[in-house]
Amino acid sequence: MPGKFTRNGLQRAALKWGHQLGDLLYPIARKTLPFRPKMWWIPRLPIWAHPRRAPHARAWTAPIPTPAADLLTSPGVTLLPEAQQQAYDEVPLHDFIRLHPEMRGENSPTGHMWISLLSTSPRVQGAARRRAQANLDPGATTVPARVTPAELTRAVKAEAARLGLGAVGVTAYDIKYNYAEYHGLAVGDTVIVGILEQNFDSTQMAPSLRAEKAALTAYAGLEDRMRLLADWIRAQGYDARAEGFVGESMVIPYAVQAGLGQLGLNGQLLTPHAGSRCRIEVMTTNAPLVHDAPIDFGIEGICDECQICVKRCPAGAIPATRKESRGVVKAKLNTKRCLPVMGKTAGCSVCMKTCPVQRFGLPAVLGEFERSGTILGKGSDDLEGFDWPLDGKHYGPGERPRLGPEVFATPGFEFDPDRKVPVGWVDKKDETTEALGY
Ligand code: SF4
Ligand code: SF4
Repeated sequence: MPGKFTRNGLQRAALKWGHQLGDLLYPIARKTLPFRPKMWWIPRLPIWAHPRRAPHARAWTAPIPTPAADLLTSPGVTLLPEAQQQAYDEVPLHDFIRLHPEMRGENSPTGHMWISLLSTSPRVQGAARRRAQANLDPGATTVPARVTPAELTRAVKAEAARLGLGAVGVTAYDIKYNYAEYHGLAVGDTVIVGILEQNFDSTQMAPSLRAEKAALTAYAGLEDRMRLLADWIRAQGYDARAEGFVGESMVIPYAVQAGLGQLGLNGQLLTPHAGSRCRIEVMTTNAPLVHDAPIDFGIEGICDECQICVKRCPAGAIPATRKESRGVVKAKLNTKRCLPVMGKTAGCSVCMKTCPVQRFGLPAVLGEFERSGTILGKGSDDLEGFDWPLDGKHYGPGERPRLGPEVFATPGFEFDPDRKVPVGWVDKKDETTEALGY
């Protein structure tokens, strides 16, 4: 049965024409995008004036049921610590945009994201600038009160909820997750992970500029809230440094370690309340907080039964099984197939749109599985259907667009998934994301 998130024929044609117009204007538009970081001063409407973009700034409180025993695998994700360490010693991680400058919005010949980047830049760059300024002096502003770590942790989480973060978790800093360019910038050995829920309705319209703008706007909202949380921690007498949305670290491993979700087969963090329809940022702090532990929500078990994203991904980039990669047992996305498609379809996100945990939340998915042994929404056009911007057609369950070689082989696009060292690598710790202009 068609759901309420469907387009009619005219709207699908508009999706395709808008997409083609974006292609046509791209050579002109890319010349303006280097000015994007300077757009912070452009006045913008309050967020409530953008109901289709606004994130859901609310703390998640609904209880998560215990999964059936046959859905359990391991808390968080299966790690092989020795292999993790060896991978790090041999090839440390690098900032993605440094490693792949061809993926920057203004550089990439696949860069269809320019429209959403341009229209959200005043808000996103304003938030990035405020955070960068706060980070100039991340030091404490007062003497710490005499409270126990448990009391302080409760207070931090209460403040995060007051700010509208969906969830926060606490875990240990791990240099293996910190990109080599930013080593030495952490202000403590504890990491706070913050999550903000992205606009629900717009996400169900992915792939589209509307969905992409909702994602970028959620990042701006998250960046402001993490900065305010860092300010609050400094006012309690501790150092805190928020890393921002382009990021200095791999945020998903931290979120898994902090018990905020598990990895889906689509490679994203699936939170129990909103699946992957959320944005994640981290901060480091020296506040003595109680660390959270990874949790087995039954998500890996649900993924094994579901496999919707594996079958719906237009690029065929999502594997059906997990294997070890850099000491982590996970489904490793084929980025060489995914990234060109993302670039050409406003972020794609079919794998997010069609995920039942994103759409219905884990409690409903677990409940249906317990009742009927089936995955909620699987096989329905409402969940699995999507409109494809490249041809303006609707693809229901069992159907996928045919992508020709031109989608994956754009002239001038040199994305190399095996690249280990950034192009033009320089070892300067002061080149933070702010200096890179994000
Ligand atoms: S973003 Fe699109 S191409 Fe990439 S993995 Fe998801 S569905 Fe596939
Ligand atoms: S679509 Fe299904 S298999 Fe893919 S991440 Fe979501 S629950 Fe897991």
